[in-house]
Amino acid sequence: MRLLVIVPVGDADEGLLQALADDLGPRLGMECAVGAGLPLDEEWWDADRCRYLSGPLVDALLERADGSGHDPRECWWLGVAEAELCAPEYDVVFGEATVDGPCAVVGLASLRAPSADGVPTLWPRLVASAIHELGHLAGAEHCPNPRCVMYPSRDIADTDGKGNSFCGSCFQWKAARQA
Ligand SMILES: [Zn+2]
Ligand SMILES: [Zn+2]
Repeated sequence: MRLLVIVPVGDADEGLLQALADDLGPRLGMECAVGAGLPLDEEWWDADRCRYLSGPLVDALLERADGSGHDPRECWWLGVAEAELCAPEYDVVFGEATVDGPCAVVGLASLRAPSADGVPTLWPRLVASAIHELGHLAGAEHCPNPRCVMYPSRDIADTDGKGNSFCGSCFQWKAARQA
């Protein structure tokens, strides 16, 4: 895996996403850059939940990936949307990743929820959510350890509890990179 392209979706702050790229690159051993933005499409709006559906956003990223000329085994795409996301089965999702593809998304707006102790948490939540979705792209599944980054987030307290590293038993990023 050589390149990770972070795609700002909607009004996502490019400075924040550049900081994310700078953080994730060395952490994952990948080249990491912020790519061209993608507008939020009103067709993705779920009027019942007042959130955007994550599925068609992932599909739009897949289209971008397909048209990019990059080998999907050599390039991942992470959309970061300034929006709250949902899915047909879930009222809120913090992110979604393709099972056999190179694309994942994270919704920023849900990460702005206040934390239990009032400490600003957007940055650690964003890093943890991004690594969680990229872990899926590397083949990791959900982990029952609530401290592990692959623990599934049902709510923001789950995200705040899990940190951004893989537990010793479920998955090792290095192993995935070498595979
Ligand atoms: Zn997950
Ligand atoms: Zn784990």
